[in-house]
Amino acid sequence: MMPAEKTLSVRGRVFVSFKLRALTGLHIGGTAGGIAIGGVDNPVIRDPLTNRPYIPGSSLKGKIRSLLEKQYGKEPNWKIHNTCIHICQNGLEYKQCPVCNVFGVPAELDYTHPSTRLIVRDINLDEKSAENMEALPLDRPYTELKTEVSIDRITSAANPRPVERVPAGAVFGPGEFVYTVYEGDGLVDPKEDVERLAVLFEGMALLEHDYLGGMGSRGYGKVKFEEIKISLRPKERYFTSEVVVAEVPDLATLLARKDEIIEKIKAELGL
Ligand SMILES: [Zn+2]
Repeated sequence: MMPAEKTLSVRGRVFVSFKLRALTGLHIGGTAGGIAIGGVDNPVIRDPLTNRPYIPGSSLKGKIRSLLEKQYGKEPNWKIHNTCIHICQNGLEYKQCPVCNVFGVPAELDYTHPSTRLIVRDINLDEKSAENMEALPLDRPYTELKTEVSIDRITSAANPRPVERVPAGAVFGPGEFVYTVYEGDGLVDPKEDVERLAVLFEGMALLEHDYLGGMGSRGYGKVKFEEIKISLRPKERYFTSEVVVAEVPDLATLLARKDEIIEKIKAELGL
């Protein structure tokens, strides 16, 4: 079947803003030796302008994607940097895939456009949380150093090393997921797009059940979504009004109201 002679356009954008609380120490690695004063071997990534730790959107997006791949049994088959992710290999497979439709495929794969629907922003430390941390006697600005001992498997020698981490209780935010609903080229279904928001919500839940950043097996990186707000800009009123769809305190509430929220977005978009 020939696709309709139409071009892809934006039906609307959904914005999910939130705060992310570290319930245990959080280590998202930066480059060692980059920062001069008291350089540590295992530093956290910091914003070079403010020197505050932040959460790269790519780390958050990659982690949630990988958790969803496992959840849906999608075999990793695509090498990217030094990891392997799942990418659908043809249009038929893609049409059914919750992961690729939401999280995207490499732009060069011509069986699909758009290549991605979801943008994940970098998340800075919440201002109030940063100020609270400035008043604490921490080892380094906004972080603590924890000694982790690994055992050399050959010599059985203990090998202690300091790991830098953002302390438990730190709050990052606001963070933002931007999800675009497309229409128009005969290949996309805006209704399905909206329904696939449920996949993002599931991914957020999987992240709470897993960990963000490194050293998860040592208890690091347990995070919690808070102050979640879902809003929408429908095409016809894109630049004039932002429709607030829901404001919920946590993910449990979001998941409980998931169907209602998705129906409301569909109605606002006229789907
Ligand atoms: Zn896929």
